[in-house]
Amino acid sequence: MGMLGTTNSTTPNQEILRLDDVGKRYGNVHALRGVTLSVRQGEITCVLGDNGAGKSTLIKIIAGLHSHSDGTFTVNGEEVHFSSPRESLARGIATVYQDLALVPLMSIWRNFFLGQEITRGFGPFKRLDVKRMMEITGEELAKMGISVPDLDRPVGALSGGQRQCIAIARAIYFGAKVLILDEPTAALGVKQSGVVLKYVAKARDAGLGVIFITHNPHHAYLVGNHFTILNRGNVSLDSTRADITLDRLTNEMAGGAELEALSHELNNIQETPEPAAVLAAQDK
Ligand code: ADP
Repeated sequence: MGMLGTTNSTTPNQEILRLDDVGKRYGNVHALRGVTLSVRQGEITCVLGDNGAGKSTLIKIIAGLHSHSDGTFTVNGEEVHFSSPRESLARGIATVYQDLALVPLMSIWRNFFLGQEITRGFGPFKRLDVKRMMEITGEELAKMGISVPDLDRPVGALSGGQRQCIAIARAIYFGAKVLILDEPTAALGVKQSGVVLKYVAKARDAGLGVIFITHNPHHAYLVGNHFTILNRGNVSLDSTRADITLDRLTNEMAGGAELEALSHELNNIQETPEPAAVLAAQDK
């Protein structure tokens, strides 16, 4: 272990996933254009952008819900063109969506194994191995530093932050190599956001390549190794952590040059005389 929590050293981490000049058209709408992005093992690539920037479209391409129209998408050096989420999952790409795909009324352990239940026995004697599933759920959550007193509690009784953590722990346990997190802190307060960011960092430390989608530059900067800002479907900034400050990231995210132009325009409006004053001057 290095002295710092981050894994960056002189040898770059292995690249797992890569987009080169990727574009996506929906009929006449160009939702994404010329997007180049790299995801490395043990690193967090943050994708920032305002509403309509193209973040969801990017997730859909990587998760296999929609396929890209232009450019190349490679996973472990092999070009892919996904036509279903199953193909993406089969390559170890897991997505934790904002709505989480957890069932609120079901217990924590049941949610952890949802769709991938462990059974024992064969044929008509096949039944769920509840004991084993509870054990594993407890162990995996403990590894992430999450202590839940009762795994039989419904997931709906947990806080939003804890639910995010369970969804992340589940993806790691089921062998994800790349983890896409869709605005995991968007609906959370400061304290719970901190908890979730800690687990995002744990996923990184477990060696996963993490794609962290957010519109919050502060959250991104707390954990990110790499930052990409999307603006109306284009990459407006692409920077490693070493090359950018939080101030600049925040400024770029707020629109940078666009904001400056707007401020100029607003000042100009103030400088133009009030219509009433103009009329009064004409009366003289
Ligand atoms: P974000 O997630 O950053 O808010 P989106 O990826 O949802 O951005 O949207 C990017 C652009 O693509 C928007 O202009 C949106 O209207 C357009 N778009 C997204 N999905 C579709 C679709 N299925 N059909 C047509 N246009 C779409």
